[in-house]
Amino acid sequence: MEYLVNNFNVLSLQEAVKRLTGKDVPDNAVVVTFDDGYRDNFLNAFPILMSLSIPATIFLATNAIGSSVMLWHDRVFSAFRNTRCDRLYGFGNISGKLLWHTMSEKLFAQEEVLKFLRSCNSIERSYWIDRLIQVLEVAGCDHAPGLMLSWDQVVAMQKGGISFGSHTASHPILSKLSREEACMEILVSKRVIEEKLGIPVRALAYPNGKTHDFSDLTKRLVRESGYECAVTTIFGTNGVEQDLFELRRATPWDEDIHAFALRLNYFKLSS
Ligand SMILES: [Zn+2]
Repeated sequence: MEYLVNNFNVLSLQEAVKRLTGKDVPDNAVVVTFDDGYRDNFLNAFPILMSLSIPATIFLATNAIGSSVMLWHDRVFSAFRNTRCDRLYGFGNISGKLLWHTMSEKLFAQEEVLKFLRSCNSIERSYWIDRLIQVLEVAGCDHAPGLMLSWDQVVAMQKGGISFGSHTASHPILSKLSREEACMEILVSKRVIEEKLGIPVRALAYPNGKTHDFSDLTKRLVRESGYECAVTTIFGTNGVEQDLFELRRATPWDEDIHAFALRLNYFKLSS
């Protein structure tokens, strides 16, 4: 984060959107965002962000905030992490048997399961995750007190200069929902955050955020619900022509500072 502050122009998301709209983006502009609302954002990131005055935005999946209920993908991660089983047979639309003896085989199986679950609607997904927990014999592993932020922590971070956006209520794949369901997810999460924080919510991050995870209808619903922008997980930088409801992002997760610096400069060159 120190490298970012010393070498880039760190803007809040709201400021960046304003500058994009006004076609007046400063050189080396970056925005820092976090998705989901994990408690480590408060414990680890917040003190650093505050000490460097970085105006980050955190996108909250509101059903999980202040709750021990895990987001659906975390239930899957937890099932695979905790299981003593080494195979999965006849799961969803996955043909054949998934078998794992090594960590990379296990991760491959987990990704196949996630891929199938992303193609489901909410009811099917919830059925198949319950089934996964049953067949992998990990009942009771899908609650994690302390994994997600509490509302008190969200409020404390807001007071410290962090902004909050919506990441929907239950983290569904918005393009798989009916218009009514998508509307609910987009609106309910916005209202909940606005009620808790007393300020308008203007930004949304699409869950999973790849091209197939939102549609033109999703974008229209987001715009009509009063948002000013939406971010994806599609890789890229954003120029003044970029659709504000399809903003690109990148994930420079390197732990080594040289690799981090190299990656950021590569992003800059590829913009
Ligand atoms: Zn997410």
